[in-house]
Amino acid sequence: MKTINDFNFSGKKALIRVDFNVPLNENFEVTDDTRIVAAKPTIDAILAQGGSVVLMSHLGRPKAKGDDKNSLRHVVSKATQILGVPVTFVADCIGDEVRAVVSKMKAGEVVLLENLRYYPEEEAGDLEFSKKLSEWGDIYVNDAFGTAHRAHASTTIVAQFFKDKACFGKLMEKELASIAKVLKTPERPVVAILGGSKVSSKIGIIENILDKIDHLIIGGGMTYTFIKAKGGKVGDSICENDRLELALQILDKAEKMGVKVHLPLDILAADSFSNDAKTQIVPVDEIPDGWQGLDIGPKTEIAFSFIIMQCKTILWNGPVGVFEMPKFAKGTIEMGNAIADATEDGAFSLVGGGDSVSAVKQFGFENKVSYVSTGGGAMLEMLEGQTLPGVAAIV
Ligand code: AMP
Repeated sequence: MKTINDFNFSGKKALIRVDFNVPLNENFEVTDDTRIVAAKPTIDAILAQGGSVVLMSHLGRPKAKGDDKNSLRHVVSKATQILGVPVTFVADCIGDEVRAVVSKMKAGEVVLLENLRYYPEEEAGDLEFSKKLSEWGDIYVNDAFGTAHRAHASTTIVAQFFKDKACFGKLMEKELASIAKVLKTPERPVVAILGGSKVSSKIGIIENILDKIDHLIIGGGMTYTFIKAKGGKVGDSICENDRLELALQILDKAEKMGVKVHLPLDILAADSFSNDAKTQIVPVDEIPDGWQGLDIGPKTEIAFSFIIMQCKTILWNGPVGVFEMPKFAKGTIEMGNAIADATEDGAFSLVGGGDSVSAVKQFGFENKVSYVSTGGGAMLEMLEGQTLPGVAAIV
């Protein structure tokens, strides 16, 4: 894995693909700066060596060039504040305007280019466009994990123009190392906690991880497809009736591979999908008609936490209940607590891919787990065992 440690950036221009695709409010202020903060260590390290930095990113889904709503100029003041150095903005990402600024750059300077997606060539992975981008740096650094699963010009194709001069930034390095620590060189036992709404969206992950884990904890809406497949009564719970056979196959495969599958014992059932619903705790396979399971129950919290506490490597993808509603958030919070405790006891814990990341942030577990992935879709594809184009372009 080539990283910025393999290069000396002194007197060199680094062209860094960052992920500054940050949310903005109606006044175009950055409301969550996580991604800018995440890019800082790479930028700092290159500047500290006496290099200069040209940053390129996308922001939102602009319709065309000049779509001001998605201009990266809105990000400049936040980036300046976080990086602690002035960030010069150029209102284009290719062409003479960029050349004029980049050609005069000195060591320690930072330039941010305008939204790459103002050009459809970016997402098309256009070779000519990539070549134009490549003119802005001596060394190409990809630090945009969140878009590494896309074969776009700036994330993948541009690397072709940096033979032996392309590497991963520190964020990419951390993301790749974290997933490797879980799927390639884990300390055992390994537990995967899979939640979320549907089995169908997690099947790729399950198939890829089954031979790498010791315990599989299943929670969330997925539960009921498994319970119904096993002959239980799931009432009005979310259930994929066309995946019952698949659920049985997964259970069978897991058993043959020696993976212990843990399904909820009891659940918190509600009489409607609402925070104002009436609730009751019932056995997971005896949910009355008119009721739906929206969180795990107290016995399950204890049972799942007990497994988690015994494990040395923990992967968490997907909430175990409808955590967006406070009434059904407790199970997910308890899973977070157990993972935090296990981590404190020396386990390695990775939270990745979608809503479990939001849950971890919302409930304040971010600093109590080993690593929270910054890339939803990219992490999901890695968990499914796919090679990301942005990674393959550099390795
Ligand atoms: P996913 O994107 O597949 O990880 O699904 C995440 C979503 O699953 C969250 O928005 C949760 O509210 C939802 N979810 C979790 N548990 C349940 C449940 N028991 N019934 C319905 N939806 C659920």
